[in-house]
Amino acid sequence: MFEGKKIILGITGSIAAYKAALLARLLVKSGAEVKVVMTSSALDFITPLTMSTLTGNQVHHQFSKPDEGTWTNHVELGLWADLMLIAPVSANTISKLANGTCDNLLLAVYLSARCPVFLAPAMDLDMLAHDGTQQNLNLLQSRGNRIIEPETGLLASGLSGKGRMAEPEHIFAKISEYFETANRLKGKKVLITAGPTYEPIDPVRFIGNHSTGKMGYALAEVFANRGAEVHLISGPVNIKTKNPTIRVTEVNTADEMNAVCLNEFSDKNLILLAAAVADYKPENIATEKIKKTDDNLTLDLVRTPDIAAGLGQLKKVGQILAGFALETEDEVSHAIHKLKRKNFDFIVLNSLKDAGAGFGYDTNKIKIIDKEGKIFPYELKEKYDVATDIARYIEANFNV
Ligand code: C5P
Repeated sequence: MFEGKKIILGITGSIAAYKAALLARLLVKSGAEVKVVMTSSALDFITPLTMSTLTGNQVHHQFSKPDEGTWTNHVELGLWADLMLIAPVSANTISKLANGTCDNLLLAVYLSARCPVFLAPAMDLDMLAHDGTQQNLNLLQSRGNRIIEPETGLLASGLSGKGRMAEPEHIFAKISEYFETANRLKGKKVLITAGPTYEPIDPVRFIGNHSTGKMGYALAEVFANRGAEVHLISGPVNIKTKNPTIRVTEVNTADEMNAVCLNEFSDKNLILLAAAVADYKPENIATEKIKKTDDNLTLDLVRTPDIAAGLGQLKKVGQILAGFALETEDEVSHAIHKLKRKNFDFIVLNSLKDAGAGFGYDTNKIKIIDKEGKIFPYELKEKYDVATDIARYIEANFNV
């Protein structure tokens, strides 16, 4: 699978450095050519001899070797790689990467590399949770670096929590997935809606809902990571996209979301509607803040546009349109009814009854239902993995 792939494996100073040996072995065994670059603190944890024996290549850890009168061409190394992976990456190196610091060979290779970069952090739980580290990781992600999330368990400090470097098999699986899917949807144009809509009542109040946008944002990441051109139309949320290729249009109301969708719909190959659009809005928006009185207050509400149904009518041959259904009773029959009414090609059903699924959770449990009523159930998973299942379903069942 990795035949002919050239990988730079960076190793920094962390007890997890010993796992880099296992990782190198997995990569080499699957056909990759691996060149290792270590920081000087990594040398305290694992020897260059171990890594050069496993990879069959010389290990680099310094700019120059004055005794031999040679130097390491970091630019050449950076340009050589199809992929760069730093595992483990310490809090110190994360900070330097985020700031563009270049005081060791690994950092110089990183700055010279034009290939995708994967980072597998390893540190103590409080160091990982620290605002400084989190901001650096967010910054690196926003520049397109892929973070392989650390795992939870016993740490070298004796504490227990999130911070352990992902296991070599898990890192290997992420890299495999990247090589398999990075260009799978290249050239495809995808429209995704996400988040709630806010329907104003007066200048300070609105009607909204509990949608956080996590599912729609996860879909945007997955499709962008598979090479698609993603345009995300987002209601008000507190999250940001990670893949820098995702184009985001922020809207507040259902009418605004509808207008952008109608404008952007015609050239899209795939349209995924994950937004929790308000069904009703106040008929009139008060221009001043409504004063409270001792009487009841009645608001007249009118329907918002059903974006999905509108796009369903405009859909052309070759366009794939899908939406979500969140039901509390008769789930499957309601979802099938919705699929037909909105002219969806498939619908993703998530139930509020499933623990860990739905609004606000990082996980979701879905069933995909197709036009023939065939049901594909999935396990409870992280929303990114749910989005990956949806992408795989589309790739397997449609002409994309
Ligand atoms: O009718 P219901 O709101 O249950 O349908 C859910 C699906 O329709 C979701 O995919 C949602 O994004 C979409 N929808 C929409 N515009 C609306 C209401 C729902 O696009 N006004």
